Amino acid sequence: MADVLIIGDGPGGLSAALFLAKNDLDVTVFGQNKTLMHDAMLYNYLGIPQITGTEFQEISRKQVENFGAKILEVEVTEIETGGAEFSVTTAAGDKHQGKYLIVATGLEEALAATLGLSTDSDNDDAIVADREGKTTIENLYVIGWLTRGQRTQAIISAGEGAAAALSILSSEIGRDFHDFDVVKEDGDDE
Ligand SMILES: Cc1cc2nc3c(=O)[nH]c(=O)nc-3n(C[C@H](O)[C@H](O)[C@H](O)COP(=O)(O)OP(=O)(O)OC[C@H]3O[C@@H](n4cnc5c(N)ncnc54)[C@H](O)[C@@H]3O)c2cc1C
Repeated sequence: MADVLIIGDGPGGLSAALFLAKNDLDVTVFGQNKTLMHDAMLYNYLGIPQITGTEFQEISRKQVENFGAKILEVEVTEIETGGAEFSVTTAAGDKHQGKYLIVATGLEEALAATLGLSTDSDNDDAIVADREGKTTIENLYVIGWLTRGQRTQAIISAGEGAAAALSILSSEIGRDFHDFDVVKEDGDDE
């Protein structure tokens, strides 16, 4: 069983995967590299003067895999909740279990709609989650475009992925957690 299953491989899902895998959780991401980021030319992602969405995704996927997360190029067709774990079924018919589930499927709402979560009629019927992506179902997080309606940006989804990851890491460790690294004295920042 994975520690965390993440459905969606855009900036939201990948950012969550990065923080979680970097901090040694067992993470599986589901996504077919079909994000609308491939249509974007980014000039508004702080710290990166310009980059195509496709380049951003390629770098991000490698960064996440280098920390040990698995990215499975498959669609998830069903989510089962209840009990101490989540189970997702893929289009290939495989089932995967995880203690936590993050749903970050962007504009594709159908799967999340099966979870019976509240939606916000003042915000394009986007799914309601708190600032950490927590929902009313324990250990279920919903982040990114799915919660944003028209008010989406790549950097917001990435930030929400990071916030959900810190929430999960804090729960696992039993105290508030942040992921800070520092430059070493010899100038090596590894
Ligand atoms: C034309 C265009 C230009 C844009 N330009 C900019 C820009 O300049 N700057 C900027 O900040 N933002 C831009 N955006 C917005 C940006 O693309 C979004 O903010 C960003 O993609 C949201 O990230 P996300 O991770 O929340 O969702 P997404 O990137 O939509 O990721 C969701 C992923 O989940 C996958 N998925 C969905 N359902 C399933 C399933 N059942 N199983 C497995 N995988 C699933 C999808 O295929 C997708 O890959 C642009 C968008 C468009 C359309």
